[in-house]
Amino acid sequence: MSGLWGRLRNDFQLSIVTLVGICSVFGVTPYAVYRLQQQNWIVGFTDTFLVLGTSFAVFYAWRTGNTVRPGQFLAVIYSLGGFLVTIKLGINGLFWLYCLVLFNFFVVPPVQSLAATLTTLVATCIYGWQQPGDIFESHYQMMSFVVTYLLASLFAFVFAYRSRFQRRQLALLATLDPLTGIGNRRTMDDELDIAISDSQRYGMSFGLLVLDLDHFKSVNDQFGHSVGDQVLVDFVRVIKSACRASDRIFRLGGEEFVLLVPKVDRQALAGAATHIQRSVANQLRSPGWPVTVSIGGCVLEDQGSREAWLRDADVCLYQAKDAGRNCTVIKGLETPVD
Ligand code: GH3
Ligand code: MG
Ligand code: MG
Repeated sequence: MSGLWGRLRNDFQLSIVTLVGICSVFGVTPYAVYRLQQQNWIVGFTDTFLVLGTSFAVFYAWRTGNTVRPGQFLAVIYSLGGFLVTIKLGINGLFWLYCLVLFNFFVVPPVQSLAATLTTLVATCIYGWQQPGDIFESHYQMMSFVVTYLLASLFAFVFAYRSRFQRRQLALLATLDPLTGIGNRRTMDDELDIAISDSQRYGMSFGLLVLDLDHFKSVNDQFGHSVGDQVLVDFVRVIKSACRASDRIFRLGGEEFVLLVPKVDRQALAGAATHIQRSVANQLRSPGWPVTVSIGGCVLEDQGSREAWLRDADVCLYQAKDAGRNCTVIKGLETPVD
């Protein structure tokens, strides 16, 4: 049960598909039964089809984890269903189309939703125009419907577009370090886990470097926190220019960083680390003196977990600090390199 809640909490789109699914099933089923009892077969079967289609879409979303196709499927069948119900029930069916506008904006992205919503409007108006009296009692009534329906669509579009934008921004903020713009600890955890499973499944090799600026506290003490911040930003720039495009850098916290290096053995990892360490020593400066970095690293062997892997690299980092700083220690290689 807690697994189900966890999936609902973490997957916004799945929770939306489930919610609209439950509402639709409970909301439409009584109508389906009522229409079938009345022997209003077209509306009765349309409602039944909507209930079954919705149940299938929710089941598919839960089963596969794919919420895009079920959302599109729901938008299509409900738009079609809304149209059929409207031409059968006339003005009484028309009210449901306002619910359809909201429904579509919940289950598919704003532009797709607008397309489904406008297509339903055009189809309804063409039918209403060709069959006077069937849906609309007058052209004035039709125009009123078009204007109010378009306004409802416009408001829903603006709202959906904004909330989608804000959701993306939030997701981005949750994964990035605000000062340097690189991945934060949460992103690092995910990527290290992926690296471990890639290594177990495909035999890919990965190296991990933990980098810690030397005597960084004195930069802060001497020149202030904002100068320290600028040194951290410069540090990331130097590392990015010194490593390969496939390497991934993260801020672990404070003045500690982690570099994930794919496709390396011990020697290559030591080479990469030494190159970075020398680039930092040559290029990174506080207003008063050059800033250096100590690096500890290890390749992924039989650590088995992210914590153990990080711990191994951390032990090497402490050895590099003990050895006098501005140097590199790689697990399994004899001496610190500087
Ligand atoms: P060591 O060579 O042993 O690593 O010494 P250190 O001074 O670098 O290490 P220590 O852990 O004593 O100090 C780390 C400092 O980093 C202390 C803290 O004020 C500073 N720091 C942590 N996060 C930030 C940050 O976001 N901005 C700035 N400006 N300073 C930070
Ligand atoms: Mg430090
Ligand atoms: Mg530190």
